[in-house]
Amino acid sequence: MHQTSPTEARPTTARPRVTVIVGGVAGGMSAATRLRRLDEHRVIVVVERSGAVSFANCGLPYHVSGVIADRDDLALQTPEKLAARFRIDARVRHEAIAVDRAAKTVDVRDLESGRVESIAYDELVLATGAAPRRPADVEHGAPLHVLRTLDDLDEIMAGLASLGDAPAVVVGGGYIGIELADNLVRRGVATTLVQRGGQVLGGLDPEMAAPVADHLAGRGIELELGRDVRRVARDHVELDDGTRLPAGVVFAAMGVTPESGLAADAGLAIGPTGGIVVDDAHRTSDPSIFAVGDVTELRDAIDGSSRLAPLAGLANRHGRAVADVIAGVGRPTAPALGTAIVDAAGLTVASTGWSERRAAERGRAVRVVHSHPASHAGYYPGAAPMSLKLVVDAESDRILGAQAVGTDGVDKRIDVLATAIATGMRAADLADLELAYAPQFGHAKDPINQLGYIAGNLASGEDRVIQWHELEAELADGAVLLDVRAESQLSEGRIPGATWIPVESLRDRHPEFAGRRVVVHCRVGQGAHTAARLLDRLGHDVVNLDGGFLTWRDGMRARELAAAAASRLDDGDLAA
Ligand code: FAD
Repeated sequence: MHQTSPTEARPTTARPRVTVIVGGVAGGMSAATRLRRLDEHRVIVVVERSGAVSFANCGLPYHVSGVIADRDDLALQTPEKLAARFRIDARVRHEAIAVDRAAKTVDVRDLESGRVESIAYDELVLATGAAPRRPADVEHGAPLHVLRTLDDLDEIMAGLASLGDAPAVVVGGGYIGIELADNLVRRGVATTLVQRGGQVLGGLDPEMAAPVADHLAGRGIELELGRDVRRVARDHVELDDGTRLPAGVVFAAMGVTPESGLAADAGLAIGPTGGIVVDDAHRTSDPSIFAVGDVTELRDAIDGSSRLAPLAGLANRHGRAVADVIAGVGRPTAPALGTAIVDAAGLTVASTGWSERRAAERGRAVRVVHSHPASHAGYYPGAAPMSLKLVVDAESDRILGAQAVGTDGVDKRIDVLATAIATGMRAADLADLELAYAPQFGHAKDPINQLGYIAGNLASGEDRVIQWHELEAELADGAVLLDVRAESQLSEGRIPGATWIPVESLRDRHPEFAGRRVVVHCRVGQGAHTAARLLDRLGHDVVNLDGGFLTWRDGMRARELAAAAASRLDDGDLAA
């Protein structure tokens, strides 16, 4: 083994500091370029196992369909350009294989020559990312792919070129699985998406995810919910119930695992999530070694617990931040909300912070608000429906999380809500946000303001709501369910057991349900709010069904999907 210092050849008396960065993409390359901007004299070495640095991993699925037509548009930098512009020594097809913390060296293997070199460092930054999970049982020669690097993409494109009419199977209904399935279908490849459990996008609450599954199916993606993969063979995928799905190509998009083996072998602290433990300056348990990106365990913005959040924004920003720390100008990094967005075959799905499910798991009492606004003023052409959900701490009224699904305007709403959470805003204060308005962009009372009004009414006790999943218990306890929608809206469907009394007739007919608790619902919750106020003034014990008929319908659909998935699981157990 050859031992060198990258500074050996420099004829200087004061040895410049050497920073070695392992992993040359989002986190690693952000760190490298920022560090150079802060320090012209430092030696910066970037070691990258794959054949490219600084490529656009988030854009990779879109070359599959040709939406991003030129593969080279995804290669944002080359080692040559990095050397010329930043004087960064970027070594592709080089793998860091061991760290000697006492000697402060990292052993790097040139994957083409096999030669191993030991590089001395002053600071080491681990930005090794996260590795895609794969099915356990894969037949030798099976056409199984993962999508993480440009090398992976090149292999996939070669496989697709010879696919003919054979179908594809994507295993995993998270963000990357959905993007892959969508782009395969756009390419004309018949595609089945296999997903454990009863919903896609497991981070969402079920009533928000159910319309996404139906939308994907409507766009030609065959869904196998509630199924797991038993075996990937050369020409098919075998599911846990014995079903065989023919497949000329198979993608594992089953989530990722922090690639923390190098750190663990070096004796660095690894957290229970499998990520490297870092402080808010990205320092590991060794003060000379830092870590950023998907390989790290982050602090959750809501409760400070340890979590993973494999997202490009965090990796890029933390890469920049660690350079600041190394250069001596750092400040503590903010904890992670996990704000994410995906184009699910034309439907935008976004979330930030905690879901209602996560809050329940953590034992946090919450208030929940659903709304179904139009993306912009209904009278201006092109307004599109969306569903919003807000999860709010019941005691403090602080916003804990939000979810949004729709075709237009979802991205800006989720970003406003992520900003609101990050600043510790109370939900009721959303009402006061002054947001840009013209009819083609929003509403004079933006959907964000409307969430604030609803949340304020709940916080003050002016309004009381129940959730879609609480309705059956209310009715079993003897409550009466009133449907106050306009007659023209009834064709969308009815909630079983509801009595239809439009708001305008309530003053005359309210004695019909005297002495009984009333659950009132309209289409989205607003008309029911008016009805509930009226009934309250007339002396009734009344609650509003949050999100109205639309949220209830999505909730019922979620139940149907979950039940179908569960029954398939039972069948699978029998078949197995
Ligand atoms: P990576 O970008 O994965 O880089 C780590 C690099 O380290 C890898 O290239 C690897 O080859 C290298 N490496 C690992 N070990 C070694 C070693 N021992 N020696 C040398 N090199 C090593 N996030 C979003 O927020 N939005 C999106 O739309 C989105 N879309 C995505 C689509 C796809 C297909 C993928 C794969 C990811 C997507 N992500 C998205 C996630 C995002 O890309 C990651 O969160 C981000 O790239 C993490 O950056 P990182 O630097 O931690 O790791």
